[in-house]
Parts: sequence; C-alpha cells; structure tokens
Amino acid sequence: MLNHQQLSYWERKTFLKDIDYIVIGAGIVGFSCAYHLKEKFPSAKVVVLERGYLPTGASSKNAGFACFGSPTELWDDLSHISEDEVWSTVEKRYKGLEYLRKLIGDNNLRFEQNGSWDLITDQNSLTYQETLALLPKLNRSLKEITGIDTTYSEDREVSSRFGFKNIPTSFYNKLEAQIDTSYLNKHFYLKALQSGVEVLFDHEVLEISEKNGKRVVSSNHGEINCRGVFITTNGLAKSLTKDIDVKPARAQVLITKPIEGLKIKGTFHYDMGYYYFRNIDNRILLGGGRNLDFEGETTDQFALTEPILNKLNELLTTTILPSQHVEIEHQWAGIMGVGQNKRPIIKELQPGVICGVRMGGMGVAIGSLVGKEMVELM
Ligand SMILES: Cc1cc2nc3c(=O)[nH]c(=O)nc-3n(C[C@H](O)[C@H](O)[C@H](O)COP(=O)(O)OP(=O)(O)OC[C@H]3O[C@@H](n4cnc5c(N)ncnc54)[C@H](O)[C@@H]3O)c2cc1C
Repeated sequence: MLNHQQLSYWERKTFLKDIDYIVIGAGIVGFSCAYHLKEKFPSAKVVVLERGYLPTGASSKNAGFACFGSPTELWDDLSHISEDEVWSTVEKRYKGLEYLRKLIGDNNLRFEQNGSWDLITDQNSLTYQETLALLPKLNRSLKEITGIDTTYSEDREVSSRFGFKNIPTSFYNKLEAQIDTSYLNKHFYLKALQSGVEVLFDHEVLEISEKNGKRVVSSNHGEINCRGVFITTNGLAKSLTKDIDVKPARAQVLITKPIEGLKIKGTFHYDMGYYYFRNIDNRILLGGGRNLDFEGETTDQFALTEPILNKLNELLTTTILPSQHVEIEHQWAGIMGVGQNKRPIIKELQPGVICGVRMGGMGVAIGSLVGKEMVELM
C-alpha cells in the first residue's frame, strides 16, 4: 500500500489535509464520538482511523444483548462494590440504551424487547437464595432509575417454556432486549458518514505526539496533523497510552445453523453471566467461558481455543437444546476492554487528547453515551 508521501496532491488534499479531529477506532464509541464532534463543530473535518480493513473491535463481534444488569450479577456486585457505584453503573447502562435507541432508532437496531432470563442451576445455592431475598430491594432501586415497577421476578416455568434441561428456575427481567449487531454497526457507520465524518480503514495508529501546538498522529502509512485526538480503541488502548487501567479480554462465540421450530426467544444469562445465549435468525448464538481460563483469555489475539469451545458445545447440547439435533455454522472471537472496575474511562489524557475506553461487556448499552461524553470534554 502507498504511504502518505506517495499519494497525489489531490489525494492528500482530499483525505489528509486540514483535519481538525481524529478519532482512533471505528467501534460504537468511535462512531458516536465522531458523530457528536460533527454535531458540536459542524464545519470541522473529522476523520476516523481504523486499523482493520473492516471495523475489527468488539462492536462488530458482540452478542447484541441490550442489557443493564441481571439479578445474580447485581447480587455479586453488591457484595464487593458500594451501592452507589452499583446503581450509578446500572443507571448509565439503562440511560445509555435509551440514548442509543433515540439516536439510531429501534427499527435500525432491530430492537426486540423479549426480556431476559438469569438461569439458575441449583436452588440450594447461596447465589439463588440470597438473590431471591434481594429481589424486592433490586426492584425498588431500579424503579428509581426507570420509573417502572417490578422489573425482576422469579420465573419457574422457563424450562418448560423453552425446553431447557437442569434449569429448575430463573430470574426474569422484563425490560432487557436484544438487537441485531450487524444493523447497529451499519446504521452507526451510515449516521457518521451522513453527518460528514470520513473514515480511513487500514490505518493502525502507532503513536500520538505533539509538534508546534498540533497533535501528530503517526500511523502505518504516515503522519497526520490535527487539533484534537480521541482514543476509542477499547481493549487495545494500552498500545497508545500506557498509564491506563485497561486490558484486553477475549470472548469466544458460536452460532448454530438455523433450527426448525426453535422455541427459544430472548436473551439468557447462565452461571452469573459467564455464559450467555439468545435467538437470532432462527439460530442460537452462544458465548462465554472466559472463567475457564482468565489468564489465557487476557489476550488481544483472535484465536479460538478447544476447552472453551468444547464447553460451549456441551452447554448447547446438554442444557439449551437437549433434545434437538443441532449443527454449528460458525465460531469467532472478539476482544473486550476490562479493568479493575466496571466503569468506562472517559478523560483528557493531555491537552487535546481524550480517551473513552474500557467498555467491558456492556458497550452496546453505554457506548453511544460514552462517545457523546468524550466530546463534551473538548
Ligand atoms: C464476544 C463479545 C460479546 C459481547 N456481547 C455484548 C453484549 O451482548 N452486549 C453489550 O452491551 N456488550 C457486549 N460486548 C461488549 C461490547 O461489544 C463492547 O463493550 C463494545 O463494542 C466496545 O466498543 P468500543 O467502540 O469501545 O470498542 P471496539 O468496538 O472494540 O472498537 C475499537 C476499534 O479500534 C480499532 N483499533 C484498535 N487499536 C487501533 C489502533 N492502534 N489504530 C487504529 N484502530 C485501532 C479496532 O480495530 C476496533 O475496530 C461483547 C463483546 C464481545 C467481544
């Protein structure tokens, strides 16, 4: 590929000159940030630089759960995180989803509010007993955010309704929903383009520096000057800024071939959310298993591993679809950004350089708001 020096006067003038703001990373946060920059500064030239020939982050590899918190997850969080922090995180997710829906539109997201179920395998477990006792309080606290009564309830019929095995009961969340991730990405991309944002693919940013009061962004193809830089590279952010608490966390996913007469409809969390599955296009999408090898899965490599895929297959055939013939069509891995706590990092790292990273497993919910908040810092 030609480097920037080898381009024509015209090419340089069209794509590389007079750039005001560079956004690094073409994920939900990057597109949201770029779109909001154009909204705030309509005459500014805003360019997104993406290292892949397509966007290659978690935004185009996720499970499409529009979720904000399941009971066993909240029970676990409340045991070691302050109540204020737990509920402000839930609020951010809930409001983030509302904002995403407003920004992109339910039809453009293929948003379906089918509810979610937190599946319980052992009714004698402390997790189940304590979460059940906590439900009224969870509902009261959530109502302060949503204004809606009784979001969570116990559902003992989940297995008879969907055909699961060894799932005696569950906690139902009537407000959670699902989207089609391909729709989300396509429409966010279009929205950014329509607002006047430009996107350059195959540009891996290697360094951000400063020269004569300007930011200099060095990529694999050359240097570009601009006024401000926005880092939205999520789990890979450490390559551009060392002093930040974010590390990559791989997640592996499989999808089945279409299944005739599939009854399962909704989003499902299993084993406190370490596994998750949903219906999509008459198929089951199933992911998780990072807890089998936390150390090995702390990586930015897109590889798949046998122990985790075996576990996903076992769960699929013994618990989710125990009496059905099912074939796997495809498998993939994606990289999340995680850290010591579940909040995203949105801050100015140095004058004119702002980051919005560490979306954890909730970027669908919070990503569009994070992009907006980054622009408010400029
Ligand atoms: C398998 C899986 C399932 C998930 N399921 C859900 C779910 O159901 N619901 C939910 O809310 N969240 C889910 N998540 C998390 C969610 O997808 C992420 O939190 C969210 O997409 C993060 O968005 P982002 O824009 O911050 O980062 P990303 O989408 O990761 O985008 C970062 C972009 O930066 C690019 N990049 C990186 N380094 C550079 C560089 N040096 N130069 C240029 N470009 C660079 C990458 O290629 C990438 O395109 C899931 C994640 C995974 C992996």
